[in-house]
Amino acid sequence: MAKNYYDILGVSKAASADEIKRAYRKKAHEFHPDKGNGNAEKFKEVNEAYQVLSNQDKRQQYDTYGQTFEQAQRNGGYGPGEGNPFGGFDFGGFGGQGGFNVDFDLGDIFGDIFGGRQQRESRRNRGIDLEMGLTINFEEAVFGAAKTITLEKKDACKTCAGSGAEQGSKISTCPKCHGQGSIITMRRTIFGQVQSRTTCDRCEGTGKIPERPCHTCGGSGSLRQEKTIEVQIPAGIDNGQRVRVPGEGEAGYRGSSPGDLFLSIRVRPSKDFKRDGTTLLKELPISFTQAALGAKIIIKTLDGDIELKIPAGTQSGTVLKVRNHGVPYVNESGRRGDLLITARVVTPGKLSKTEKELLKQLADVRGESVEVDQGFWDSIKDSF
Ligand SMILES: [Zn+2]
Ligand SMILES: [Zn+2]
Repeated sequence: MAKNYYDILGVSKAASADEIKRAYRKKAHEFHPDKGNGNAEKFKEVNEAYQVLSNQDKRQQYDTYGQTFEQAQRNGGYGPGEGNPFGGFDFGGFGGQGGFNVDFDLGDIFGDIFGGRQQRESRRNRGIDLEMGLTINFEEAVFGAAKTITLEKKDACKTCAGSGAEQGSKISTCPKCHGQGSIITMRRTIFGQVQSRTTCDRCEGTGKIPERPCHTCGGSGSLRQEKTIEVQIPAGIDNGQRVRVPGEGEAGYRGSSPGDLFLSIRVRPSKDFKRDGTTLLKELPISFTQAALGAKIIIKTLDGDIELKIPAGTQSGTVLKVRNHGVPYVNESGRRGDLLITARVVTPGKLSKTEKELLKQLADVRGESVEVDQGFWDSIKDSF
């Protein structure tokens, strides 16, 4: 779950820089780990929130995209030598990274490991990561589903295919940086000459310039437009988890790599089942006689109807396990959790004359004292 930095500091979205500063000081003071009732985790959160909200640029990015570029970069992909070598399932990432935790990654694992992502590309040019909520049904979360999503985003211009060049116009090497994408500048400081490298402003670091800019996008290579994509939601995904769809964020500058799309999954509750991780839970009302004598009952599972054996002498609250009828493990194909059925013995409310008689007889045999209402005695007398 993305943390809400405004909530963490306890200020409104419209809070002034001063208000944010004051709120931060108060919270930092309150949670400082050196204090008796300090809280290191909260202290870290407060600092993280302040880092973003106290910086005008970062705050604006956060307001617009729900995260900052740094976070997007940090979480956008696992390149060679950085982050998770398996590129995929990052279940353990709570707390450490801040911002985005990705629970399921639809990326090409090998592409990411072996440098499929252009790591050296300037941050300015890579497209922005996007985040959107996606609500799915309970069963779709359990079994996975193909979902069609329509979103409006900056996507590659169709006229120039993202190059930014007018059709038929040549793309030439940037005259300012000679195709390097960056410029080396020398500065004189008290330590002597200092050399620094900055992104070329003429070509935005791409090293290339179209002779004539595309008339549709004005040369940027991208346009705000609606796009429909199909995403395979993995089986076993849970409420609040996040799926990364690589390359479906905003288009990069003039054909630079696009950002990623992060889907925040919301799962609609089921009226028949509850879920605890990979375990499905269900309550089963059974009668007193079924509980006492045992029974075979047809029950509804997500895999269809099955026959459940209720052993004789089942107590109310007894949990019966149906193996492999729970939720699939999201990253282990074929492995599934169990379905746990809690038997609830229902005491009958309305009894017929015969039922009352039989139960009275049962109580007599068992030597149990029961108090039956007067009307019942009258009917018994009548029957003699
Ligand atoms: Zn240039
Ligand atoms: Zn264009």
